Amino acid sequence: MKPFGYVVAQDPAAAIALVTGRPGAAFLGGGTNLVDLMKLGVAAPDLLVDVTGLLPDRIERTAGGGLRVGAGVRNSDLAADPLVRAGFPVLAQAVLAGASGQLRNMATVGGNLLQRTRCLYFQDVTKPCNKRVPGSGCPARAGEHRNLAILGGSPRCVAIHPSDMAVALAALDAVVHVEGAAGPRVVPLGEFYRLPGDEPDRETTLERGDLITAVELPALGYAAHSAYRKVRDRASYAFAVASAAAALDVAGGVVRDVRLALGAVAPVPWRARRAEQLLAGRPATAEWFGRAADAELAAAAPLRDNAFKVTLVRNIVVRMLCELAGIAP
Ligand SMILES: Cc1cc2nc3c(=O)[nH]c(=O)nc-3n(C[C@H](O)[C@H](O)[C@H](O)COP(=O)(O)OP(=O)(O)OC[C@H]3O[C@@H](n4cnc5c(N)ncnc54)[C@H](O)[C@@H]3O)c2cc1C
Ligand code: SF4
Repeated sequence: MKPFGYVVAQDPAAAIALVTGRPGAAFLGGGTNLVDLMKLGVAAPDLLVDVTGLLPDRIERTAGGGLRVGAGVRNSDLAADPLVRAGFPVLAQAVLAGASGQLRNMATVGGNLLQRTRCLYFQDVTKPCNKRVPGSGCPARAGEHRNLAILGGSPRCVAIHPSDMAVALAALDAVVHVEGAAGPRVVPLGEFYRLPGDEPDRETTLERGDLITAVELPALGYAAHSAYRKVRDRASYAFAVASAAAALDVAGGVVRDVRLALGAVAPVPWRARRAEQLLAGRPATAEWFGRAADAELAAAAPLRDNAFKVTLVRNIVVRMLCELAGIAP
């Protein structure tokens, strides 16, 4: 591993100044992703700026009835929080579905949002990869891509975003509070991540030195009626092969409103807006849930070995929405 310095920043402004002014510097959250990537040689910062002690680590109700989650909140504390469990179960379930107890004790909300893809070629510095070395190629398209994207990929990259938490946040219309050299700003989650296009190395709309300080969940009347479902190759301690997060509002057997996001199918947490639009005002039945999933998946462009994800995602969506609607799948 390349030698690196380590500093504990005194306040957000000092941390931002250090990372903005030094191209080799990086923020350090729980370190559960960044340090792994440093050991693999994928990341090689020359200075780690530890921000865990200076970021807000509380979960508070907002005046509008939503929740504000400090970026320093550990994943275990987020999943265990009574306000989250009762008011936004989809978020608690998504976080609990990720990694292991030990990792969740270390991982922070800010770091979770910015974890990198688990594409095998990205993690292997002996292989080409457009995301790691722009212009070097994408061996995954012809090679190992069973768990890569069926939606939103580009000829340059078909990696998936691995976070479970971010899928729930996408369904909940979360916004990300960021502080940077130009001051604070708020970025809707839908504008936080970038599709790969021709620049798969640029994964978010953040600028160098931007520090995530909090995530905010706006009030949503039926957020308590929400769930996260994840399919993985092992029962625990495994990334998703496909997942879905949903909140559903049904009255008199008709869908009044629905929020749906898909995980492990795209380079970003995938908000299923076509499905949502199709379902609004329709009967809350397995048939209509299936039609909505089909509408969303019509744009899927699977590769040789991951077409199974289309059927898998459809099944997850139909089953979960049926559970939320209280009907048989
Ligand atoms: C074996 C294993 C299994 C896993 N399984 C899952 C899983 O099933 N599902 C899942 O979702 N995740 C899984 N993870 C990933 C885990 O959730 C992430 O590693 C973790 O959430 C990252 O958080 P962290 O605080 O440790 O981030 P770090 O590793 O500290 O940082 C990650 C990135 O974020 C940047 N960063 C950190 N904090 C901030 C901030 N406040 N502002 C701006 N930039 C910041 C860092 O510079 C770095 O680039 C797994 C990890 C491992 C090792
Ligand atoms: S899919 Fe993306 S991350 Fe994977 S090898 Fe291709 S460019 Fe790299």
